[in-house]
Amino acid sequence: MIQISENNIAERFMRYVQIDTQSDPQSETYPTTEKQKNLSQILLSELQHLGIQSDLDAHGYVYATLPSNSDKKNIPVICFCSHVDTAPDCSGTHVKPILHKNYSGDDITLPDDTSQVLKLSDAPYLKNHIGSDIITASGNTLLGADDKSGVAAIMEAATFFINNPDVKHGNIKILFTPDEEVGKGTAKIDMKKLNAKFGYTMDGGEAGSLEDETFSADGATIIINGVIAHPGYAKGKLVNAIKIAGEILDALPKNEWAPEVTNKKEGFVHPVRVEGIAERATIEFIVRDFDNEKLAQHGERLRQLALKTVKKYPGVTMEFSIKEQYRNMKGVLDNHPKVVAYAAAAIKRTGLKVKTESIRGGTDGSRLSYMGLPCPNIFTGMQGIHSKLEWIGVKDMAKSAETIVHLCMIWEEKS
Ligand SMILES: [Zn+2]
Repeated sequence: MIQISENNIAERFMRYVQIDTQSDPQSETYPTTEKQKNLSQILLSELQHLGIQSDLDAHGYVYATLPSNSDKKNIPVICFCSHVDTAPDCSGTHVKPILHKNYSGDDITLPDDTSQVLKLSDAPYLKNHIGSDIITASGNTLLGADDKSGVAAIMEAATFFINNPDVKHGNIKILFTPDEEVGKGTAKIDMKKLNAKFGYTMDGGEAGSLEDETFSADGATIIINGVIAHPGYAKGKLVNAIKIAGEILDALPKNEWAPEVTNKKEGFVHPVRVEGIAERATIEFIVRDFDNEKLAQHGERLRQLALKTVKKYPGVTMEFSIKEQYRNMKGVLDNHPKVVAYAAAAIKRTGLKVKTESIRGGTDGSRLSYMGLPCPNIFTGMQGIHSKLEWIGVKDMAKSAETIVHLCMIWEEKS
């Protein structure tokens, strides 16, 4: 029986969330904000204090290695990964975590902004935590459970292994990344240095959830070249590219094929940016589906739809391009069924029910999976992320750390 102290992980988590680590989508530097290193530095010194070999590189990545204590030589190297940054959508400055002991089920009014009320009716998952401890922010900021709960779970599991040397495991790698929230979390990972065979991101929601499937994602760009003439003498000549862009957008279906009217396994096409002058206009889209073949069909359908509009105007031309963004991790994970199966077994050993889920989005794990590190995503308990009403149940976080321990033990046992 593996037991992770709820008090310890709560204390650890509350210490980490008070450090402002917001990333910046506008920044061109790596990491996008220097302040993320303030937490990375603390993690580095805590790891070193535990006697775990670790380092922090110039881009803000922390790499650590917990060496094998098993006689078996064939255990694959497993990596656990979390991101230190918090989302730019909501302030992360002066986060004041509040521990609500023995949550009663009543509304929780956050003290620094009393318009922020956490209610069971809005967040039904709170029901699972009545009688347990939960943590919220104080009203002016997000909490940062995304993903400091993952960081705390990994650190707590590492501490467990140091304190329990008789629990057998193979080589374990720990990786803390910056800039996940701005889509650059994997940009500067040194895969050679990491040198792991399989990975797990600790960056998921409800207790027991195991995400092994993400969207496949493309970006599509349509450039419309209009026909330009002096507006005073344009009769019969000028064709305005901006107006054609508007016409293409208007031709998009309204009851299907859009994020606002799809869910579950349905894909979509979604315009995210328009830019132009009368002569030349550009529309950028994101294209999403779980199935790569369907993803390609969405792209082709979009091209045909735009072409049909453009063809009505002689002299107008269109440039259409598709750029791959990321791919469904399932495509990789299906080739390594043990990775997900062992994670499910580890979750079960903690006494939780496994909920296998698909993410209507991407994770660092989708990119890592295609960078050679098959990498599903495991729960930490985070809820209401990227908002002032973000919260987390302490027992979920402890179970997340417990899952990590069991997972390492299972890889050792089965090798
Ligand atoms: Zn996250």
